[in-house]
Amino acid sequence: MAAIRPSLRPRALLRRPASLLRRYEHSTPDVTIERGGPVNVDRLCQVSRDFRNAQIESAFLATRGDDVYGEDPTTIELETRLARLTGKEAALFCSSGTMTNQLGIRAHLQGPPHSIICDHRAHIHLWEAGGIALFNQATTHALVPKGKFLTAKEVEKNLHLGNDHHIAPTRLICLENTMNGVIYPQEEVVRIGEAARKHNIPMHLDGARIWNVAADEVEAQHLDSSKEEDIQAVMSNLLEPFDTASICLSKGIGAPIGSVLVGPQALVDRARWFRKAFGGGWRQSGVLAGMADYAITNHFPRLARTHILAQRLAVGLQRHGLRILAPVDTNMVFFGGLDSQLVIDALAALASPILLDSNRCVIHHQTDAEAIDEFVSVVEQLVAEHGVSEPTEDEMLGY
Ligand SMILES: *Cc1c(COP(=O)(O)O)cnc(C)c1O
Repeated sequence: MAAIRPSLRPRALLRRPASLLRRYEHSTPDVTIERGGPVNVDRLCQVSRDFRNAQIESAFLATRGDDVYGEDPTTIELETRLARLTGKEAALFCSSGTMTNQLGIRAHLQGPPHSIICDHRAHIHLWEAGGIALFNQATTHALVPKGKFLTAKEVEKNLHLGNDHHIAPTRLICLENTMNGVIYPQEEVVRIGEAARKHNIPMHLDGARIWNVAADEVEAQHLDSSKEEDIQAVMSNLLEPFDTASICLSKGIGAPIGSVLVGPQALVDRARWFRKAFGGGWRQSGVLAGMADYAITNHFPRLARTHILAQRLAVGLQRHGLRILAPVDTNMVFFGGLDSQLVIDALAALASPILLDSNRCVIHHQTDAEAIDEFVSVVEQLVAEHGVSEPTEDEMLGY
């Protein structure tokens, strides 16, 4: 049995006993009884399949106004709710997280020469089709943190300031929370925000997975995840250091489609302009807005359970000698020590297959607890047959 390395000990597990999991099982019935099960472990795109019931009803009940003219009440309601929840002036509902990140960034920037500071692993830098260069002619100044995340000192030291014509002045700082499921310590985010303000540089958050941070915080503060005021208290505090944020509605909380950009009215107005130019203005968006609104109300309270399941998976894998490659703060587990393809094939061969495409497991609100236990037994058998090895260089995430 492998010892749990102290730095990777899933911290929240220690805070929350197994009895909590049972409570969540009861308070959040499995909505995929017919079609769910173990297959849900890493199917991000299938997160919200309870289309037989309330969520699809919310689509039927949504208005059919034209959002390009700002005339769809359901979309306006969703945007108003998100602005209120995040403590920002305005919100813009869009089709993807890439779009809300890119619109936020585009709205902040004016023109070259200019640059953006971010972590070298950031989604905006690596996984958005080079959008920053395409839409802004900007350089990303992608920093490699010494520790697990960029500190205020590292960010401040790397700011490009002044008129030296060798530099591309820093015009924006972008952070990502969670990154790889790891929660950014809020004290550090606040310090980065203070440094940014001191130099008059705006901050944007890629909060594709910020709901998971909020869910963790709601638990830590013993608040109520189904109370609007409690979510608002936590979310607005998390987003306080940022001028703008992109928040995904389709990943963690399971809207069928959608992300939102929140920020000051003037910036959101400017983003709306660019959205139209990029062909992202949409007409009858109410159907999607209604379903996203349903997800915030009904799925957010289910996230805490996904964190407990992730820890159950991590602890189970560690018990059989696997390495967990990033702290399991929320709903993601990265494992090393067994060839990923072996694991992928063995899980796919189960009577009720678990579909995985790498060593990255994402637990979502419809994941069945039994799938976690089956996953662990499959790994136990593989370890018995093949033994464990060191994780490969490629698998390491910098934690
Ligand atoms: C998925 C993701 C995005 C982009 O969202 P899409 O809706 O897939 O465009 C941005 N940032 C992070 C951290 C993500 O995980």
